[in-house]
Amino acid sequence: MKVSLEELKNRQLIESSYEDSSLAENLNFKLKKPINIRFSLALSSDLISFNLAAEGTAVFECDRCLEDFDYKLGIDESSTIPLSDFGESIDITEELRQNVSLDLPVKKICRENCLGLCPVCGKNKNSENCGCKNTAPSEEGRINSKFEKLKNIKF
Ligand SMILES: [Zn+2]
Ligand SMILES: [Zn+2]
Repeated sequence: MKVSLEELKNRQLIESSYEDSSLAENLNFKLKKPINIRFSLALSSDLISFNLAAEGTAVFECDRCLEDFDYKLGIDESSTIPLSDFGESIDITEELRQNVSLDLPVKKICRENCLGLCPVCGKNKNSENCGCKNTAPSEEGRINSKFEKLKNIKF
């Protein structure tokens, strides 16, 4: 969405809200529902007071356990920008894209203590205790092979 500066000069104040789902596609993540966006632009002499707020719920796949998890997006930015910084229009979508990309999590994990997947059997260790020992080959296997050797020794 773009707001023309001509229109802003005529009206002095422009406020609007809308929903956007294309942003998530551009930034490569999924959304539960479209992002709610509210913005206001107020012109006083040569300065624009810009407020941008957005709310939404993104869905990410956990890097450790590969389950989807929700991530709340919340943006509330205010800035004052000289009118001369803009050409013909202000691109709200681009402003939003920059803000949202800064708000995305660096580490995509469903929770701080996510146990991840079992490296042996691949089960999600958050929901089930598979009982695998993490060391491979397992302790049991080594003991068995020792007994195998003993069996072969003739007294
Ligand atoms: Zn996880
Ligand atoms: Zn396991």
